[in-house]
Amino acid sequence: MRIGVLALQGAVEEHIEQIESLGAKAVPIKKPDELNSIDGLILPGGESTTMRRLIDRYHFLIPLQEFAAMQKPIFGTCAGMVLLAKEIADTESSHLGLMDIVVKRNAFGRQRESFEVQIEVAGFEERIPAVFIRAPYIDKASEKVEVLAQYEGHIVAARQGNLLVSSFHPELTSDTRFLQLFIDMVSQCNVVETVS
Ligand code: GLN
Repeated sequence: MRIGVLALQGAVEEHIEQIESLGAKAVPIKKPDELNSIDGLILPGGESTTMRRLIDRYHFLIPLQEFAAMQKPIFGTCAGMVLLAKEIADTESSHLGLMDIVVKRNAFGRQRESFEVQIEVAGFEERIPAVFIRAPYIDKASEKVEVLAQYEGHIVAARQGNLLVSSFHPELTSDTRFLQLFIDMVSQCNVVETVS
């Protein structure tokens, strides 16, 4: 299994290390045609406006939308979640516009720029550590979206079909359960492809 990490900006190396620790092949994605060689893609944390500028500069917008349209799994962490949202609160624009969520950026306030807490995730037996850095949360989600985790009453992880998002950074902890959830999505998707 080959998992790509969009390598334009942000926390790329940390994802690569965590993917390889779970025995999958991690591939930094720097050019659109490299998307053809992977089974799933991670959009890392970083700065979503900068990432969008680089997405445009390297002509990634349509190829990323096509990758999602092929039902290939995409996992957006933090800024990656902002990139996937159909709506961003208090702005007119969105980026990839793929997931039926309204995301609020930098939503936990300046005085709490970064913090770590333990959170419950649907389907997990025990809480996981979650690192938030100038994190967004999901302000609204359509009924097509499955809520996976909440913190202080706000949605911080969710899934819609082949799309998975988290406000927090699983790659900055040694707990690999959230990444494993994504890897399971990718392997199920591969099974469906092989059968059909
Ligand atoms: N605040 C950043 C943004 O909106 C996201 C921060 C992060 O990815 N850690 O792009």
